[in-house]
Amino acid sequence: MPDLDLPLLPLPTRADPADATAPRLLILYTGGTVGMALNRSNELVPMKFGRIDHKMPDLARLPLRLAMLSLPAPIDSSNVMPADWLYWAQLIGRHYPDFDGFVILHGTDTMAYSAAALSYVLKHLGKPVVFTGAQVPVGASRSDAQRNLVTALEIAAARHSRARTVRVPEVCVFFNDVLIRGTRAKKVESHQFAAFKSENYPPLARAGIGLEFDDKSIRPLPAARLQVHTRLETAVAVLRLFPGITVAAVRAILGIPGLRGCVLETYGSGNAPTAPWFLNCLAEARQRGVWLLNVSQCEEGRVVQGKYETSSYFAEMGIIGGDDITTEAAVTKLMFVLGLDVSEARTRELLSQDLRGEITP
Ligand code: ASP
Repeated sequence: MPDLDLPLLPLPTRADPADATAPRLLILYTGGTVGMALNRSNELVPMKFGRIDHKMPDLARLPLRLAMLSLPAPIDSSNVMPADWLYWAQLIGRHYPDFDGFVILHGTDTMAYSAAALSYVLKHLGKPVVFTGAQVPVGASRSDAQRNLVTALEIAAARHSRARTVRVPEVCVFFNDVLIRGTRAKKVESHQFAAFKSENYPPLARAGIGLEFDDKSIRPLPAARLQVHTRLETAVAVLRLFPGITVAAVRAILGIPGLRGCVLETYGSGNAPTAPWFLNCLAEARQRGVWLLNVSQCEEGRVVQGKYETSSYFAEMGIIGGDDITTEAAVTKLMFVLGLDVSEARTRELLSQDLRGEITP
């Protein structure tokens, strides 16, 4: 496990460091465009942030106590691996008692996967963990970095006005004025500022002049203490169907040695070919104990196995319908559930259930 003793850098703000009533937040910088600059070949590469507050003067105006943890080697989020998720989860677990909320600065490319993964790994989360980043690096003109970070911090500090309880005890993504549940986020834009969409679920909050929370869509505070999981199964794959996909392509993926789970990206409400060779490939994979999770390629709607003849064989084969889950939340759900190494019956139950708001049962 990488270093859990990274030095905490306090950031000066308007709050008195001795004022115990000012929310205390931790920023974890992992990389991404937010902290990138051009290298000699004119490519954007992640930089080490010395003092983020030097580039974001608005931070000093916040009535919050802020500290920052920077990973020793920040990365483009295209390089994120499951081991990184487990490391960040451990860092959060380590600092959990000392902070009221966490903001993770992360690249946008795989932010939806990371947010979903942390949603599963951080069980019984009672404090906000807000992912954010930027489409334009901090320091560049028209950067969205400061705006995204400042509002993400305000969300992480938010409390219900009377009870003073935590407002968003969830892993979520805040980007371009919209707060999205971590298991419902999808990157949909690479050029505009509105990079993320909340798929099949309402946004948890919107930021305008003020913050408007949709409290009924936000998970309640957990009754148990935080549990940080330490294992993810990486022997998983995604098989995206398209008309004309060959037996060789399907075999190559479902036949990966040691494969334990695969997301089947099917058509419409979860439909797939009925050709005997295709059914044989699925049946063989199931016989080898590969878990198959049926996820629709559609952005809206849900999987209803058995609605058409082209999906009626799935249930019989033990293929699990993913309801309205996203591929990002499905891949990471397979990693999480298969990483638990529980009985077959329990695995089936967990894969079918809503664990972290990733499906609408
Ligand atoms: N390639 C970058 C990353 O995901 C893109 C971004 O941050 O917007 O790290």
